[in-house]
Amino acid sequence: MSPEDLRRQLEYYRDLGIKDIYRRDASARQVSPPPQETEPLVEIQLPGMAPAGDTLERISADIGDCKRCRLHEGRNKLVFGVGDPNARLVFVGEGPGADEDAQGIPFVGRAGQLLTQMIENTASKEGIPLKRENVYICNVVKCRPPENRTPEADEMEICGQFLFRQLSVIQPKAICALGSTAAKALLGGKDGVTRLRGKWHKWRDIPLLVTYHPSYLLRPYNQNAKRESWEDLKKIFHFVYD
Ligand code: URA
Repeated sequence: MSPEDLRRQLEYYRDLGIKDIYRRDASARQVSPPPQETEPLVEIQLPGMAPAGDTLERISADIGDCKRCRLHEGRNKLVFGVGDPNARLVFVGEGPGADEDAQGIPFVGRAGQLLTQMIENTASKEGIPLKRENVYICNVVKCRPPENRTPEADEMEICGQFLFRQLSVIQPKAICALGSTAAKALLGGKDGVTRLRGKWHKWRDIPLLVTYHPSYLLRPYNQNAKRESWEDLKKIFHFVYD
């Protein structure tokens, strides 16, 4: 492997949140530590790099009838993603809810209807001819977590490799992370939406804006957050479509 390939691969693992990579071949070391220190503490299966010439179809085929984590146990339908494969803007949510699990399409329940309205109404008020089908929408995890709980770190890590491949294939002009889970999956770190929203960040080289998850906006006491997410969408739409 060339140094450049190695650098890219390490960068890829870092984006996946994998920080510690252990060397399996202890014989390459000049001074061998005791045997118990030469093996990884936890054996991790490093996900493969995105293959050259990757496509959404290939990613979907690679996911297949996925049983890589416990979330497959309760799923009806795996929810891959929907929209324009050449979209200039990608929305990333957390994971499917009951309606999405039943239909196999992201953001079709109450939160999804709000997201669709927010996209189409904000764009229309700003004079931008944009419909839901013109963007791409997907989630960090592709299977519904039980009782809609937040996905666990290992579930996000395993499924994150497919999200990253989706984003790498689509190469949008910007990404909108909906809520803390999407923000953490894409940016790393521990900060939640309140700290991150409204400012530009980057996933690899792609500008990324964090805003509130539409489920949060459905709660009646979050009127201020609605106004703020309206501002966030205006910002990202003008950046992408002006
Ligand atoms: N919430 C999400 O994060 N994603 C969906 O697809 C639906 C609700």
